[in-house]
Amino acid sequence: MLGRRMDDTATMTEMLDTVTLDAVTFDAQGLVAAIVQNAADGEVRMVGYMNREALARTLTTGQVWFWSRSRAAFWRKGETSGNTLDVAEVLIDCDGDAILVRAHPHGPTCHTGARTCFYRRLATGAADDTVGEE
Ligand SMILES: [Zn+2]
Repeated sequence: MLGRRMDDTATMTEMLDTVTLDAVTFDAQGLVAAIVQNAADGEVRMVGYMNREALARTLTTGQVWFWSRSRAAFWRKGETSGNTLDVAEVLIDCDGDAILVRAHPHGPTCHTGARTCFYRRLATGAADDTVGEE
């Protein structure tokens, strides 16, 4: 790995080692956080949780599946909205406890209609003013 550079996303895939699902560290609830990134421009679109089956479905179907913690059910992104995510590749981080799905999005990704779920910025520099103001 030494000497390799990861500064060219276009050639990222060929530089990666390939691992199996056994490399994933699921938490006590059997879940792993999955970040979805637009493969075309690198924009982070959303974060969801996958269990082993949701991750397996994502790898085998080419569509992004999650586990809904609130509904305790599988869901395929876009199954009701039509705003699906076509999987380009699925990456796993160094210690196996986070997944990065690089995908080709159809339409906006956030259920609010925003392109990305990350359309708000937390104010910086005044954190003390708001702590405890619940
Ligand atoms: Zn959202």
